[in-house]
Amino acid sequence: MKNRVLKLNDAEIRQNADYVLYWAQMNRRAKSNHALEYAIELGNELGLPVLCYEGLTCTYENANDRLHTFVIEGVPDTQELLEKRGVGYAFYLRRKRSDANDVFYKLVDRSAAVVTDDYPTFIAAAHNSSVPGKVGVATFAVDSSCIVPMRCFEKREYAAYTIRPKIAKLLPEYLEAAPQRKLKHRWRAEKPAFHVEVTAGNIPELVASCEIDHSVKPSAAYRGGSAAAERRLSHFLDCSLARYAKARNEPSQHATSNLSPYLHFGHISSLQVALAVKDYAAEHKLVADEFLEELIVRRELAFNYARLASDIKGFGDLPDWARKTMQAHAGDKRDPLFTAKEMEEAKTYDPLWNATQKELLLRGKIHGYYRMYWGKKIIEWSRTYQDALDLMIGLHDRYALDGRDPNTYTNILWCFGLHDRPWFDRPIFGLMRYMAFDGMKRKTNINAYIQEIAWLEQTGNDPERL
Ligand SMILES: Cc1cc2nc3c(=O)[nH]c(=O)nc-3n(C[C@H](O)[C@H](O)[C@H](O)COP(=O)(O)OP(=O)(O)OC[C@H]3O[C@@H](n4cnc5c(N)ncnc54)[C@H](O)[C@@H]3O)c2cc1C
Repeated sequence: MKNRVLKLNDAEIRQNADYVLYWAQMNRRAKSNHALEYAIELGNELGLPVLCYEGLTCTYENANDRLHTFVIEGVPDTQELLEKRGVGYAFYLRRKRSDANDVFYKLVDRSAAVVTDDYPTFIAAAHNSSVPGKVGVATFAVDSSCIVPMRCFEKREYAAYTIRPKIAKLLPEYLEAAPQRKLKHRWRAEKPAFHVEVTAGNIPELVASCEIDHSVKPSAAYRGGSAAAERRLSHFLDCSLARYAKARNEPSQHATSNLSPYLHFGHISSLQVALAVKDYAAEHKLVADEFLEELIVRRELAFNYARLASDIKGFGDLPDWARKTMQAHAGDKRDPLFTAKEMEEAKTYDPLWNATQKELLLRGKIHGYYRMYWGKKIIEWSRTYQDALDLMIGLHDRYALDGRDPNTYTNILWCFGLHDRPWFDRPIFGLMRYMAFDGMKRKTNINAYIQEIAWLEQTGNDPERL
């Protein structure tokens, strides 16, 4: 647990309590979860069982059928695995604004300590700074999102090349399976009355009963949960890892893992993925360096930025050259200009860009290579850089299953020069890297991708669905 555990308040462990509470905010899983294991360690020391609490509220911005369905689909897997281990589990679905909003605090009143996920964005980041001061009981945040804990890096890294050697040095120490503790005290009490039982059959009904935006439909491709995540991982190992280095930038080849939604909601850990990839590569004599570069170096660079940036949704932390070039080119004429609505509805003149936007609308993520093009074109077609940034974040918040993640903000800001270098001066972009339709056409099979997305739109049949 070295460098993973942070105490969030000065409160003491409560005596005469009933359990240790693990509040699963982001890492909604039973396996490879350092926070859960830390809660079990505390429970064993204190002679108490552990209760895992998972909540889902209708009140966060853009709560919709897609995000709710994915999260709720994860509940049965987590519940089953935890209960097998002897950990108590309770899931609260706050369907209406008028429903109780104090369920967590009531659980805290009977707990010796609270353990939760250390996470630098989204609701968890806000909770972790506001809740510990109110609960009056020792509260710990545990980093189980990164392989090398975020706290190993004291300052904001400039780019991948600055964090890469540091990660390489620390990796031997941290790239090892999370401990799996044996519980000394199994959970034997009744479930709290608020618990909502989720089955494969009742998910649509539960989602329909929530006061959320029902216009954003569940993803055509991705079903939530740890079992689905492990199926994706196995599929990736067997069908794509060997092709990844060469084909990852050819979207029609389907050579990437599609694990980002599962990593975002914590249905699988990057540690579990990295270890599985390493083992498979060793067994099959493959080189997995390109994939591990994305999963570890790029992803953990994003967590580093999200944790230490002062302006995660703004331009304030961009390198000087990027801010200066934006100032110099702010007045450049944009032609054509599209409104946010036209772009949201995929109604530009560019068939490739429209297909990428439709992929976001239908699947809830965009292939990584075209996602860069998607972002760059939004800069080109928006009235101001700020409008472009707001639109990219807004579309992710509403539609992306992997949105609101450290990767979301960092990669959107990459389109504006973050972690990149200056290129050649040109209109609108200044020194920021530019991406052109002709380049995409030359380097990738854009027709195959456009046809695939058109087929998906017409039939609802998704080749990405497992
Ligand atoms: C404008 C823009 C917005 C983006 N928004 C998001 C987002 O909301 N959420 C998100 O997870 N990623 C985002 N990315 C990064 C990247 O596109 C996705 O992580 C990747 O496409 C996810 O697909 P995959 O799981 O098949 O990736 P794989 O290629 O299979 O990679 C495995 C994992 O490595 C990590 N990874 C891959 N590429 C990157 C990268 N460039 N930076 C950091 N980590 C990476 C992800 O966790 C990914 O799941 C964005 C990129 C751009 C250019």
